[in-house]
Amino acid sequence: MSKASAQTLWGTIPLTDTAYRIELKPPDIAAYRSGNTGIDFVTTFDSGKSGPHVLVNALTHGNELCGAIALDFLFRHGVRPARGRLTLCFANVAAYRCFDPGRPGASRFVDEDFNRLWSSQVLNGPRNSVELTRARTLRPLYDTVDLLLDLHSMQHATPPLVLCGTTERGRRLAQAVGVPEWIVADNGHASGRRLLDYAGFADPIGPKTALLAECGQHWEREAASVAIEITLRFLLATGVVDPEFAAPHLKREPPEQKVIEITDAVTMKGSNLEYEADYVGMEIIEHRGTLIACDDDTEIRTPYDNCVLIMPSRRLRRGQTAVRLGRIVS
Ligand SMILES: [Zn+2]
Repeated sequence: MSKASAQTLWGTIPLTDTAYRIELKPPDIAAYRSGNTGIDFVTTFDSGKSGPHVLVNALTHGNELCGAIALDFLFRHGVRPARGRLTLCFANVAAYRCFDPGRPGASRFVDEDFNRLWSSQVLNGPRNSVELTRARTLRPLYDTVDLLLDLHSMQHATPPLVLCGTTERGRRLAQAVGVPEWIVADNGHASGRRLLDYAGFADPIGPKTALLAECGQHWEREAASVAIEITLRFLLATGVVDPEFAAPHLKREPPEQKVIEITDAVTMKGSNLEYEADYVGMEIIEHRGTLIACDDDTEIRTPYDNCVLIMPSRRLRRGQTAVRLGRIVS
């Protein structure tokens, strides 16, 4: 395999972040700062009719522009809930403000990953950081949410996917949304809980449900239109908006969806983890026992035939997820 590209089922994919052009422009979100909730960059619209509290979350990671573009789209098109409440939230605005097209990967966060803080142990704990301060401010809001969509993008230009956690209701909601093609059922990272895994969203029983959409490569134009499509279909599936609002903007025929269940998360334990090939994600490794990486001297091999590699990371540090392994179940 060449060093400049990787072979996947979806063809040849260029490898490094530097191979990707910055096609998206970060929208100016200053107008959304004051909002109407008392929390900066959070706006809630209330239909006055009964229904769920639905929240669309952007900028959990500051360099993932597609979510901000999708919320800006909703504001510009005057979205209003037909029933229940709809909240639009820009999460890690401090990191977003640091976005620099010259160093586009650097603004994922300021101090730490906002999406690894979502356990009561960490939220109630003694530590402080830019991200923890914001998480503690937003926590009472998320506590009131019934249905949440968290918009993200990925390091590599692999097909969009939606993470639905481990609950059956998460999987059903992802199927009701209908896009993207790939649904990934997973239970997160050893390095900390995601918003998707926070409190009631991950409870085996209960109504609260969250989805995390990975809309494509961070800076590709397509990621923005995927984010808008997923968001509109999410709002339709939750019933918070009427088809009259969403339908004129829907561009894609919903694909036949497939579900991947994550079976293993490979957490880096040593000081140096090297992949055997230039994986970008969504490779299907045919044979059980194939060597995929070495973590210092520890060999990491696929545990079964047709094992799918999910989002292999090159921002590697000890204790963090390197890659997750999954099985196509339907
Ligand atoms: Zn992200």
